[in-house]
Amino acid sequence: MIISLNLIILHNYYNLNLSSTIPLRHRQTAKSAALVLCGLTWIARNQAPSTGAVLTFHGLREHGRHAGVLDDSLHLSVRTFRQICEFLAKSYQVIPLSEMVRLNRQGEKLPVRAVAITFDDGYASNHDLGFPVLRELGLPATIFLATGFLDGTHQLWFQEMDLAFQAMGRSGAELAKALAELKNLPDTEMRTEVERAVASTQVSATIPRSMQPMSWDDARALQQSGLIELGGHTHTHPILARCTQKEQAYEIKTCRDRMIAELGRAPSLFAYTNGGPADFTAETQQLLTEHGFDAAFTMMGGRYSARSSSHALPRYGSPETCLETDAMASGAFELLKKWRGGGA
Ligand SMILES: [Zn+2]
Repeated sequence: MIISLNLIILHNYYNLNLSSTIPLRHRQTAKSAALVLCGLTWIARNQAPSTGAVLTFHGLREHGRHAGVLDDSLHLSVRTFRQICEFLAKSYQVIPLSEMVRLNRQGEKLPVRAVAITFDDGYASNHDLGFPVLRELGLPATIFLATGFLDGTHQLWFQEMDLAFQAMGRSGAELAKALAELKNLPDTEMRTEVERAVASTQVSATIPRSMQPMSWDDARALQQSGLIELGGHTHTHPILARCTQKEQAYEIKTCRDRMIAELGRAPSLFAYTNGGPADFTAETQQLLTEHGFDAAFTMMGGRYSARSSSHALPRYGSPETCLETDAMASGAFELLKKWRGGGA
């Protein structure tokens, strides 16, 4: 009886298609479902501590899988994105990220159940598919731009590898392994490896339109909407900790300068590429401060409060269902950790 009731709640409240069991096999989704079923997300959501949650998305896709690439896992279906946004609109207060930063910096209370939506890289699909959903629901968001990607001068290196591996007849699993290894190399060595792979296969295929960058005109239109704010995400999308100090300064300065030139204003928010604890350094944080970025976000999950370090701010990875969204946005993961650890 209780299980049936829970399944009805899952279906109606979280827009979860129970006929599809694939997402439930996903470890994160299964864990999220458990947190919802035992009521932990509800408890966490209603504890009303003065903390917020920042969610990360990348690209979006129309439906089905992207043809022509081995890995489109960073690109959520727009149908799922809409469900997540509708869920956030009814259960949380989605506020601009800059407002969350301002409130935390000034030590003011965040709205109850405050959430900020962000996208990384600057895909055309953010403009073409994501913005109409956000505008319809009146939800603000921040898009972090890799400026060389928008300029058309620097393809995203992991997309180049995808096309090269596809041309070589390699599998998605082989690509994932290669990308993980490349991420550990110094940036110049990584670029050499990518160039070698591309040259050896003479790639002629192109990335699908929605996985390509938005244009600067798109970015200006989004900015002028008043609903979307734009932040920096480097120029050529290296992992900054794998760069020399000079390269890091170039990436941060060029990103800022290109945004000023194209958008008429200096960005103040930044998101680290890859975003793990070993993907930026104290030097990176110093350079960001010197170039006017007064808040920088990682991909390390956690609550964002006035106590968070301004250039190592927490951000949750990409939720793929409303359940995951609730588990992240509510603070249930942290509450569970606190209870397990017996913390106060
Ligand atoms: Zn990125």
